[in-house]
Amino acid sequence: MNPEELRGQIEFYRDLGIKELYRRAPAPVSPESATSAPEPPAAVDVPLLSLSPAGDTLERIGLDIGDCTRCRLHKGRNKIVFGSGNPAAKLVFVGEGPGADEDEQGLPFVGRAGQLLTQMIEGTAAKEGIPLKRPDVYICNVVKCRPPDNRTPESDEMEICGQFLFRQLSVIRPRAVCALGSTAARALLGGKDGVTKLRGKWHKWGDIPLIVTYHPSYLLRPYNQNAKREAWEDLKKVLHFVYD
Ligand code: URA
Repeated sequence: MNPEELRGQIEFYRDLGIKELYRRAPAPVSPESATSAPEPPAAVDVPLLSLSPAGDTLERIGLDIGDCTRCRLHKGRNKIVFGSGNPAAKLVFVGEGPGADEDEQGLPFVGRAGQLLTQMIEGTAAKEGIPLKRPDVYICNVVKCRPPDNRTPESDEMEICGQFLFRQLSVIRPRAVCALGSTAARALLGGKDGVTKLRGKWHKWGDIPLIVTYHPSYLLRPYNQNAKREAWEDLKKVLHFVYD
């Protein structure tokens, strides 16, 4: 693919919602069935493209996001919060969207919830004898701009920004993903189920194993001690899966 084609492909993605991307994605075909299966009707009058442009990189995704004005969230933001950590991480954590501290610093999970997330990652790893620090994993969010008053992102905002999350995960290709909270879980898995229903078992994002656990903000509330214990269990499970 030449740079012009790549640019066209990237611009095409920019204007597509994540649901559309999923809808248009060609179903995988096994080599045996590839010759005999009838051609599916084209859903749109553009060629079916792979969901992540060939040769994609985190840098390119960041450039494509640019000084984004694709949804209403840009109006109230100070900084876009792209993601941070090891670009070759074996484990990626996905949150909901930046809060006030993240919006100010341009980095994910740096406020109180972020400090708890760091403690959870590093504390659980240390207890389990896994040499892991926060910079070894990658952390990002479904939406890259802070929703006003920390409200839950709207579905159109998640669809627009979700394409970049999709590309980030496709580039990093971790061994596992950990969705923090119901919003991240719904964005990655589809459906309407929340954490209580989804946690405690393995799911998949494409072919990548995914675990759902409580959002650290939820765990900061004093009456959620039981959830805290469950979150530690979830984390233990995913850390052993990835690093054993
Ligand atoms: N909550 C999130 O979901 N993400 C952040 O980056 C911070 C708080």
